Amino acid sequence: MNQAILLDNAHVIDGNGGAPFSAAVLIEGDQIVALGDEALRRVAHLQHARRIDLAGKTVMPGLIDAHCHLSFDDAASNPEIFYQRRNALSALVAAYNAKKLLRAGVTGILDPDSVFENMVDVRDAAEAGIIEAPRISCGCYALITAVGGTAGRLINDTGITGYYKSVQGKDEIVAEVRRQVKVGADWIKVHVSGVVPRYAHLGEQCSWTQEELNLICELAHDLGVPVMGHCRGSMSTYRAAKAGVDLIFHGTGMDEQALDLVIDRKIPVCPAFTFQANMVDYGHRLGTDPALITLFEREITDSAASMRRLVAAGVPLLTGSEAGFSMVPYGHWHYREMEVFMRYLGMSSLEAIHCATGAGAFALKMAGRTGVVAPGMKADLLVVDGDPSLNVAILGEPGRISQVFLDGKTVDLSPPRERKALGGWRMPSMGQQLTREFALSGASQNPPAQPEEL
Ligand SMILES: [Zn+2]
Repeated sequence: MNQAILLDNAHVIDGNGGAPFSAAVLIEGDQIVALGDEALRRVAHLQHARRIDLAGKTVMPGLIDAHCHLSFDDAASNPEIFYQRRNALSALVAAYNAKKLLRAGVTGILDPDSVFENMVDVRDAAEAGIIEAPRISCGCYALITAVGGTAGRLINDTGITGYYKSVQGKDEIVAEVRRQVKVGADWIKVHVSGVVPRYAHLGEQCSWTQEELNLICELAHDLGVPVMGHCRGSMSTYRAAKAGVDLIFHGTGMDEQALDLVIDRKIPVCPAFTFQANMVDYGHRLGTDPALITLFEREITDSAASMRRLVAAGVPLLTGSEAGFSMVPYGHWHYREMEVFMRYLGMSSLEAIHCATGAGAFALKMAGRTGVVAPGMKADLLVVDGDPSLNVAILGEPGRISQVFLDGKTVDLSPPRERKALGGWRMPSMGQQLTREFALSGASQNPPAQPEEL
């Protein structure tokens, strides 16, 4: 017998961008089965339904974070991810961090790439009910060329390090895509663009040929697996779109040709601006170099016009936090991309919420099955104290999310137990440079930090 729960007198935000309305929401088993009068009629025939009066509260779909690295454990640097971590332990730590996501109202994530590609195991454990975590859709190792990605010379010419596999030539591409599908990748992740330190002034450049990208997409699609590409700059986005990539991360710096193709093919874009926005708003308090702050802000402002054109043309924009790095720790900023979309792209709160819910279901490969409050949808829901359509930022306030339902079941929102340091886990740092002037000045301010690129 499926358990029935009636969320009565709810203020409903449906996640489809429509105006909020008042209604009862009836959950049976893992699904929303009825709304409004139909829900009340139906519940009258159910003997053991649980009624929850939600006067003054909002019911909305759970947030879907389409760019979250659950295995990175809020790393402060790429070397930490690449060289300090262990496989089983990082999967266990990911299970711990997953609770922070649930408490922040995240009921689904797309994890693009993970250390030891262990997100496949974390996902399977969550699906089997062994751990409590949001729905997870994931890639394995990011495919990268020896040119590199965003970690400079840390990218080796061959083989696996951290979250990537460096592939050389057709044979290795074929073998790796097939292997990842066999391992259980939901998506194939390609690091389409990268930055080379000596040519950093050119920004990220496309590091694959058209033929190579075509090959990846053809192989993956033949096996029924979609492809997601990290693309900054015109050439990478254009080639990825042409090859048939199904989801574009970042997508900043597009020219007309790239933009036209993305619009033509309606390829969803997840800009993942939250990291940059945090740097812009709070970097000065972390001692970040002002020049770097300007650079990060420009990535958003320079792309705002093209992002607005995507939206106007009906291309879905998805929200991604890039959580997993110390600038965007788990549980704190998953709502923030909505704020960024409103501030820089001029979206309404309901449009932004749609990006984080109804549209985000695509990232979970569950479009039309979750992310929306409607009959037939999975009951992945939040109960919020207040109205996020008046202020989306309340979704980030501790205690505002009073209940989370995942698959129709109530999620335990008690705080995770306090953790202690894991030996050898973080990258040891000697701290700031001790110049003689600094030592004698008595100052305690950190010098400008140079955050890692993503
Ligand atoms: Zn990322």
